[in-house]
Amino acid sequence: MQPGQLLVILTLSTSVPLILPTPSHTTCAPYTGRFAPSPSGPLHDGSLVAAMASFLDARAHHGRWLLRIEDIDTPRVARDADRIILSQLRQLGMRWDGDIIWQSQRLSRYADIYQQLDRQGLIYGCACTRHEIASNAEQAGLAGEDGERPYVGTCRAGIAGGRSPRAWRVRMPDEAYSFTDRWVGERTQNVAQAVGDMIVKRADGLFAYQLVVVVDDHDQQVTDIVRGQDLLSSTARQHQLARMLGFTPPRMMHIPLVLDGEGRKLSKQNHAQAIDVHNPVKSLQRAWAALGFDVLPVNTVNDFWDAAVAAWRQRFNIG
Ligand SMILES: [Zn+2]
Repeated sequence: MQPGQLLVILTLSTSVPLILPTPSHTTCAPYTGRFAPSPSGPLHDGSLVAAMASFLDARAHHGRWLLRIEDIDTPRVARDADRIILSQLRQLGMRWDGDIIWQSQRLSRYADIYQQLDRQGLIYGCACTRHEIASNAEQAGLAGEDGERPYVGTCRAGIAGGRSPRAWRVRMPDEAYSFTDRWVGERTQNVAQAVGDMIVKRADGLFAYQLVVVVDDHDQQVTDIVRGQDLLSSTARQHQLARMLGFTPPRMMHIPLVLDGEGRKLSKQNHAQAIDVHNPVKSLQRAWAALGFDVLPVNTVNDFWDAAVAAWRQRFNIG
């Protein structure tokens, strides 16, 4: 039970006026976390670290841990990868709560949200090629962040020269947005300047990852997102999009990435090996070490999770 709820019950049962604290959404909504793998291949060491951190944080908060299969980018989906990921999680003792959602089954929901933004006058078509976007940003003297060239809004007032749209963008507010990340601290970004108006629907008709993630987290009532630092730069734009839709942005924690011997992010594109589920404790200990913790003196999967949850609580001062 949350402190706020307890006080409400006391007020009702005793009729003594109590001063209620001002709860933020993160303290009054029950903790709901999630793991959202894209089924482009089996889990590898890098994705296991992200799964582990979100699982531990949910369990440490006595919260729910949901699973979402991010198969919106259909050309990248590998056949059977979702089934393999679920089996890997089970073998590692990571049990999820509630029903799994597949993004590919939610297209009508995304279309409704897209229509909502369109009715708000926030969507416009853009005919710019990748090359044009880069050269326009360069001419405007905008370097962008993380090598990402911002879109300068070339087609905001309409597409010139009767060309067809290659994508549909949403108008982002020109303002600095700040959030506090539980791992890396405070971050501020003006999305309109650093990124520009975001693509929400692609030329091939697929809704953009940045849009559907925001809708999914809202619909699943996610209060806390724990994920890798490769997604840190996406957070301000996702939160701004959430606010435009009237959603409350979740609390964030971005954990360090697991790098290979050459300093590259471990990923399916970099041919990372699938995790060894035949030796689950060893695989779990390796992911645990990647999060900066010492090896736990345990021999079974259940003992691993008990000890890891306790250590996580202590490390992050979770009641
Ligand atoms: Zn354009």
